Amino acid sequence: MSRIVQKYGGTSVGDVERIKNVAKRIKSYRDEGHQVVVVVSARSGVTNELIARAKAVCPEPDEREMDQLLAVGEQETIALTAMALHGVGVPAISYTGAQAGIITDSVHTKAKIQGIDASAIEADLAAGKVVIVAGFQGITTDGRTSTLGRGGSDLTAIALAGALHADKCEIYTDVDGVYTADPRVVKDARKIPEICYEEMLELASSGSKVMQSRSVEFAAKYDVVFEVRSSFNTNPGTIVKQEVAYMEKVAVRGVAVDKDQAKLTVTNIPDQPGTAAKVFKALADATIIVDMIVQNVGRNGVANLTFTVPGTETARARKALEPVFATLGGGEVAIDDAIAKLSVVGVGMKTHSGVAATLFAALAEAGVNIQLISTSEIKISVVVEKSRADEAARVAHQAFALDQA
Ligand code: ADP
Ligand code: ASP
Ligand code: MG
Repeated sequence: MSRIVQKYGGTSVGDVERIKNVAKRIKSYRDEGHQVVVVVSARSGVTNELIARAKAVCPEPDEREMDQLLAVGEQETIALTAMALHGVGVPAISYTGAQAGIITDSVHTKAKIQGIDASAIEADLAAGKVVIVAGFQGITTDGRTSTLGRGGSDLTAIALAGALHADKCEIYTDVDGVYTADPRVVKDARKIPEICYEEMLELASSGSKVMQSRSVEFAAKYDVVFEVRSSFNTNPGTIVKQEVAYMEKVAVRGVAVDKDQAKLTVTNIPDQPGTAAKVFKALADATIIVDMIVQNVGRNGVANLTFTVPGTETARARKALEPVFATLGGGEVAIDDAIAKLSVVGVGMKTHSGVAATLFAALAEAGVNIQLISTSEIKISVVVEKSRADEAARVAHQAFALDQA
């Protein structure tokens, strides 16, 4: 007997038929004698719909109330999944995040898990029940409902697998695993059989929506091995773990595109020590994540800064910067959200040269203009026009021969 944590994403529980299919799959594991804990997302589209409704009643919804609302999506699917299991004769019980003992900090809409009290789940598993847990949500130490950021059901599953010392953690989704690029955009993308945490984390944080990046970070920290696979077939998926054989054989493992980014250009700020510190402290205090940063050489005592933030944070970023401009005695911000970030990722970059040159040449040949560049040890990212991003991904994929990987 082994202990398995399975997570089913929004498409996998998208309608009643699919929920029944998920129940059949869960039953087959339980019939083999395994203990099964299941994490489910909201039906696909539901979280987006709830956000749209919140914005329709109030343009800047209160974040506590937002979490109260967003948690609803997963509460529907846990109960329906438990009922579907009852329907096929499997004893099952559903838990909200709070009932499952998932304790978080109090940063609403992107809370971090602080600890899990798994005693109730342990008792139910010991009693032979399948436990269904609502993904993406928890409870703060003072009793408020919190959510873990978009895609956060992945984090619920990985954190539970860690806390329950599960033998297996399976992330079921609507594709067969992690591919060399989004298979919906790059038709000849290939499934990667095994990938290390480091590469998976860079792909996820660069926009590969298949895994939430914070969940991969958590998996790496606590060494939770997991498999990404399809809920629509029984094909083997992608195993994500610490070490993968021949990790450095290829320079680039995959290509990612992030279209949910915006480029902010701050102009007319004083070119003197402390200016950048003030700008980025204000953004940090507002818990806004800043990515690529470029500062132009100052002229006539005036400097410009360009950087990217998540596309959803532009209004908050503008608000956070206004008092800084007042203190600095100057400055304005221009926001461009018609951009996307394209990244190529691979641990092999540590030992291969010429990756940037190959990427830039391929984009040049396709006539795609590069607006910003940033590099790390295992990643090269460029900002391009949003309308050219998919084409840029295909071109990069081909330039590194990832279709033959
Ligand atoms: P779920 O609802 O199951 O969590 P998501 O929509 O969050 O599913 O993630 C799955 C989607 O991620 C796929 O449908 C695919 O379009 C997209 N995706 C982006 N990059 C990749 C990649 N490199 N490999 C596989 N899927 C990817
Ligand atoms: N329902 C949440 C979202 O759409 C969490 C998830 O699906 O993982 O972001
Ligand atoms: Mg997801």
